[in-house]
Amino acid sequence: MAARILDGKSLAAQIRTEVKRKAAALAQRGIRPGLAVILAGDDPASRVYVRNKALASEQTGVASSLFEFPGSVTETELLRQVEALNADPAVHAILVQLPLPRHVDAAKVLQAVTPAKDVDGFHEANLGALLAGRPRVVPCTPAGVIRLLEHAKVPLAGRRAVVIGRSSIVGKPLALLLLRKDATVTICHSKSGDLERIAVEADLLVAAVGRAKLVGAAMVKPGACVVDVGVNRLPDGSLAGDVDFAAVRDIAGWITPVPGGVGPMTIAMLLENCVNAASKGLRI
Ligand code: NAD
Repeated sequence: MAARILDGKSLAAQIRTEVKRKAAALAQRGIRPGLAVILAGDDPASRVYVRNKALASEQTGVASSLFEFPGSVTETELLRQVEALNADPAVHAILVQLPLPRHVDAAKVLQAVTPAKDVDGFHEANLGALLAGRPRVVPCTPAGVIRLLEHAKVPLAGRRAVVIGRSSIVGKPLALLLLRKDATVTICHSKSGDLERIAVEADLLVAAVGRAKLVGAAMVKPGACVVDVGVNRLPDGSLAGDVDFAAVRDIAGWITPVPGGVGPMTIAMLLENCVNAASKGLRI
């Protein structure tokens, strides 16, 4: 039987409607949620992401402003911009679009964002809170994956979850969130030998690597839930995830498509984090 599709596009639309309602409630109190985006360099994918985020913000009543810098920008200039945004009361959320130019210490810039405005949840204070079991701002992509799983009522407690990818943006925070759901979690990475043997035991298999068709039929346990976080640009210009969708969809119990799965959820969670940052302490 073909897997059930975890439709991120449709769930993200529902979440955005709720975010819009909350933004309108804040507007009634004279507060317009403000998102500031810092973009440095001319990475084409980053430009597309930033444009999509700005558009989604405006559609939900979040005021977004873009602070654009050339690839030659210095770390000091970026730190100064972050400081100015930290101090600006109209800015509730700050997003530093990655990657930053190579000569800039991205970790230093991310740590300069005040944790309450760290809409991506990348600040060590926010990642640490998640590790300590008291999540504050949770990174958008892992948060979006959990929401998709919750919505589809995919069983997690006591189940085996395998997350392929150990980045601080996706793999590691997602593993922590799955632990909070009482899953038994394994994290795999580029040095894990025998990926296939580990993956095929998973009731929930998440691929967050950035390698098209990394996950094929032999890696998926029949009935498992397969979540594809990867975004890969193929030579013909089309987008593909890390999972060989056609090969896996008749084996899995649930599967996320690319596009239309995790990607829209990431943006919805970003907007939700913005509105939450603007509504701190208020009932809306
Ligand atoms: P990253 O490059 O920081 O991390 C990739 C991880 O994959 C690393 O931990 C590495 O150890 C692991 N890896 C590499 N080769 C491997 C292999 N052969 N076997 C097992 N593990 C391997 O990337 P990231 O920022 O975590 O992003 C991962 C993917 O998710 C990318 O394709 C990215 O574009 C995508 N992404 C999508 C969204 C979204 O909203 N859909 C958001 C963030 C990232």
